[in-house]
This record gives sequence, C-alpha cells and structure tokens, in this order.
Amino acid sequence: MRLSRYFLPVLKETPKEAEIISHRLMLRAGMISQQGAGMYAWLPLGYKVLRKIQQIIEEEQNRAGAVELLMPTLQSADLWRESGRYEDYGKEMLRMQDRHERDMLYGPTNEEMITDIFRSYVRSYKDLPLNLYHIQWKFRDEIRPRFGTMRSREFLMKDAYSFDLDKDEAVKAYNRMFVAYLRTYWRMGLTAIPMRAETGPIGGDLSHEFIVLADTGESGVFCHADMLEKPIPSADTDFMGDLSGIVADWTSLYAATEDMHDEADFAAKVPEDRRIAARGIEVGQVFYFGTKYSEPMGATVTGSDGKDVAVHMGSYGIGLTRIIPAIIEASHDENGIIWPVSVAPFEVTLINLKSGDAECDAANEKLYSQLHAAGIDALYDDRSTGAGQKFATSDLIGIPFQLIVGPRGLASGEVEIKHRKSGERETIGIEDAVSRLK
Ligand code: ATP
Ligand code: MG
Ligand code: MG
Ligand code: MG
Repeated sequence: MRLSRYFLPVLKETPKEAEIISHRLMLRAGMISQQGAGMYAWLPLGYKVLRKIQQIIEEEQNRAGAVELLMPTLQSADLWRESGRYEDYGKEMLRMQDRHERDMLYGPTNEEMITDIFRSYVRSYKDLPLNLYHIQWKFRDEIRPRFGTMRSREFLMKDAYSFDLDKDEAVKAYNRMFVAYLRTYWRMGLTAIPMRAETGPIGGDLSHEFIVLADTGESGVFCHADMLEKPIPSADTDFMGDLSGIVADWTSLYAATEDMHDEADFAAKVPEDRRIAARGIEVGQVFYFGTKYSEPMGATVTGSDGKDVAVHMGSYGIGLTRIIPAIIEASHDENGIIWPVSVAPFEVTLINLKSGDAECDAANEKLYSQLHAAGIDALYDDRSTGAGQKFATSDLIGIPFQLIVGPRGLASGEVEIKHRKSGERETIGIEDAVSRLK
C-alpha cells in the first residue's frame, strides 16, 4: 500500500476524551472513529488488525474441532422468552419492534439462537460432539461505555457453543476450548491467564475468564506469579485426545477473579513473594452450563439406549474488539504502538528518505515491488514529507520493521532496517534487504 493513496488519518494532538493509553493511540493512529456512545467505525488500519485477530481465532477454533457458521445480529424476542432470559437480561439488551410490532432485539449473545438451530436438525447422540461458532457483532447497552473499544456498546465477539451427551463429554469440549484459548492469545503476543470466574447471566457452574494483567483493567484479580510463565500447548496438540492433564496443570495454581477470590486460600496456596494481586482485562470467558438452555428449549438427542436426553452445553466467548486495546495496553512506548508481528497491520514500512529524488524514488519503487513479490505486506511511505515525520508515523502506528532507503546509503548500495520494538538498526546491502525481512 502506498501511503499517499491510503486512508490513514493520524492525529497530532492527543484526543482529550481518551482516558487510557490504548484508546489514545487507537485514535491517534487512525484506527477507529467514534460514531456515538460506545460505537466505533473501524478505519482501514484498525480493520486490518481486526482481520488478523479474526484469522488467528478462526485457525485455533478450527484446530480444536469447532465449526464456523454465521447467525444474524437481530433476534426474535420469542426465542428468549423460551429460555426465560427476555425478562431477566435487563437494560443491557437493546430491544426494538419491527413494522408488525413483533418484539426483536440486537443479540448480546447467542445461546438461544444456537440452541434453536441445534434442536431443528440434530436428533441423535451419534452427531455429537458438536461445537458451532461464529464471529459476529453484538450489542450491549452498557451503562458506562468507555475506554474506546475496550468497553463499547457494539462489539465483535467470537462465540462458540458446544453440545454433548453428558457432563463428562461436555467437560472434554470445555477443555478443548480452554486449550484453544491459551494458544489463541499467545499467538497474538498476549499473556492471558485463565482464572476461576463467576458465571453471571450466562449461568452454569464451571467457568474461567482469560485475563490480561493491566493497571487499566476493570477487574481485580489474584494469581500465582508462575501462571505468567507457563509454556503454551503446541500446535500439534491432539484435540481429540485427552486434554485433562493440560487443563489440570493450568488450573492447579491459584488464579481467581475478585468474585471468586478467597484470601485465606490464596495465602495458604501461594508463597508471599509469588502472590499477584492486580488489575486485569477480561479478553474471553468459557462456561459449562449443562442443560440450562437445552432443557427449557427442548434441545434433546436420542441416546444409545433409545431415550431422549437434553444435551449438555457450554459457551465460549472472545472479545475481538477488546483484544486490540488489550494488546496495545501491553505493548507500546512513548512513540506509539508496538504490534506483535502476528497481528501487525503491515509487516514493514518502506521509508523513502528523499521522495522526489529520481534515483531514490526508483530504488524505493523497485524494493516495493520486490516486497510485494515476496508476499510481504508493506506500507510504502511515498509522501513528500520530511524523514522525521515518516519515522514518527511508522512508530506511532506500530509497524514492526522500517526499511529505510535514502540517497547516502544508495551511493554505497546500502539500506537500513530498523526494529520497532528494540530500536536496533542494521545496515544491509540493498540486494539482501527483502530476503532479510521474509
Ligand atoms: P465484562 O465483564 O467486561 O462486562 P462480560 O463478562 O459481560 O464482560 P461475556 O458475556 O463473558 O462478557 O462476553 C465474552 C467476551 O466479550 C468478554 O470476555 C469480553 O472480551 C467481550 N466483551 C464483553 N462485553 C464487551 C464490551 N462491552 N465491549 C467489548 N468487549 C466486550
Ligand atoms: Mg458485561
Ligand atoms: Mg465479565
Ligand atoms: Mg464474561
């Protein structure tokens, strides 16, 4: 992408309304544009990051055996009357009527709808286990939307729903999502700790929240410091095999959100110098809730003994549009965002130190097409501005590498590569630059 042809409305001033660093940087980097209380448009740079997050989530959900579909944002109130949640959900639910005065709602979550889909088609225990997920916009009329897309009213969520014959099988499904979540956040460069959590309006008796530690987090959390250093299960983990050992290992150390916290237990289980009492951001949550929805909604299958049983279910959410500010909270400096390579909107900025100089332009153009041919997603800063501004823009928007090309280096056939994270610079022969970045 040529920056002169792109849409990247970076801001020089720090927006006053933004209280936390991630919100400030997302606005300054031209990633989002506010369109109302807790509602944001995703501008091209932000949208590229969102797509990368989505891609990683899909790969890890698929690896764990979940199957993707897409449900609508608007739902019929009647489904929610069946589960009893239409009245229970309260003011966070955005309710409306269509022209026939039918009650509708903008989905805050999809347990009811997926249960309806399941009961319409699945009849036999032989079709289980089944895990269906989608990535779709949700609306929750939050009393206090704040911190940009960290707590917005409209937000993008991945929600998966598992269906199993009994509790034992459902716990296996829970474990598959638990391990998939560990891998998902890790691939995004995030350290997210699974912590015992309350189930809230989703219901059920087994739940973990995945928490990223941050001073700006809205939850109080408590855990053993070793939770931060545990190795992540590898990509060749057998998801159809027994994962109970991995989950038992991850849940053996103390880790709880404030709702589930027990100070005496914490003190007994964690040596004083290993105790973490901190703030955290909830980037996902997994639930097992048994037959809470299948029972009232009649989602049953015929078991091997010919008897009908209500299926045991779980649900598994990840907030895509919250993960992005969570990454920024964890990875930035005074110059701007520092994207982990896996989610960076571009891999490299090609910085032309002297746009307008024929020789320099030609060398940049050549490198730009070589990068393209090598499958490297590059942002070519071809603007006729000074070098300082080009460095500042690239640093602000967090691109992992800068490929710096100017007349002085070219005279000796050299260019420079600068690493955003470490600040290291290396001089390299122009012929080797592209292969170095691969
Ligand atoms: P919170 O406690 O922050 O209100 P929640 O527990 O109500 O979140 P869940 O129902 O568990 O949320 O939804 C799954 C995930 O969706 C959350 O873990 C979070 O990452 C994301 N999420 C929930 N509410 C919002 C929101 N208002 N804005 C952005 N992401 C959200
Ligand atoms: Mg909430
Ligand atoms: Mg919560
Ligand atoms: Mg939650």
